[in-house]
Amino acid sequence: MVTRRRLTGAAIVGALVAPMAAWARASAALPTVDMEAVVKAAQIDPRRADSAITPGSRDSVLLVESALQAKGLLAASYVDGHFGTKTIDAYAAWQRSLGYTGLDATGLPGPTSLTKLGEQRFTVVRLLSPGAELTFHGVPMNARTKAMLLEAERLLGRQFSVTQGSYSPGEDPTSAGTHDGGGALDLAVDGLTSAQRTSAVRRLRQVGFAAWLRTPSQGNWPYHIHAIALADTDLSIPARNQAGDYYLGFNGLANHGADDGPVVDPKVTWEQYQRA
Ligand SMILES: [Zn+2]
Repeated sequence: MVTRRRLTGAAIVGALVAPMAAWARASAALPTVDMEAVVKAAQIDPRRADSAITPGSRDSVLLVESALQAKGLLAASYVDGHFGTKTIDAYAAWQRSLGYTGLDATGLPGPTSLTKLGEQRFTVVRLLSPGAELTFHGVPMNARTKAMLLEAERLLGRQFSVTQGSYSPGEDPTSAGTHDGGGALDLAVDGLTSAQRTSAVRRLRQVGFAAWLRTPSQGNWPYHIHAIALADTDLSIPARNQAGDYYLGFNGLANHGADDGPVVDPKVTWEQYQRA
């Protein structure tokens, strides 16, 4: 009986060795692209005054840029690890070549376009996805933004009243398109003290929003909190610019002023918050 069991075990091992070896060879041959690192660079680098590289993003961005160059979409001189406006333009052209338009072709990598770009070239890890579009607190948003909002509410110990959600093109002319795509929220602050408003902004930042208290002196709007979910791959272009500005220490407004919100260090995404 012992012999028979050994034989059976050997047969199982033999059946598994061949496909596992093939899998290992394929995986070992391809380098990995960290999607979280690429998306971080794609938000920040186009907003930089120089061609600096976002820490931790260089190797993954280089692989993406090399793939874009191989497809004839990016000049070799821009394969430099900096995901600037030339790389954004090239990536948007790649998305259009796949038949994407609108929010799916802004130049911010999404999970499908990035995975397709990596075919035969790289494997994508730390895949980001905004999840399904839904209605929460009476406004449109995606599942990722809803989860972030719920966690901020849990930390704060209070529910937000949402005055504007995501995926709302043209709804509010004062928002300059920031709410056209995913990840955008406006939250009412009526009845909150100044300290409570600051605390609410801090909680939103802690779970991965670029969030600011907007005041009537800054625009044609009442006091409210404007929040953009960092690394939401459905961000509109103006919202993506605000995410980049947040990382770089600005207020996300046209005046390009200094960030006027509570300091949360390090600045994290929802995924980083969940891993911490
Ligand atoms: Zn807003």
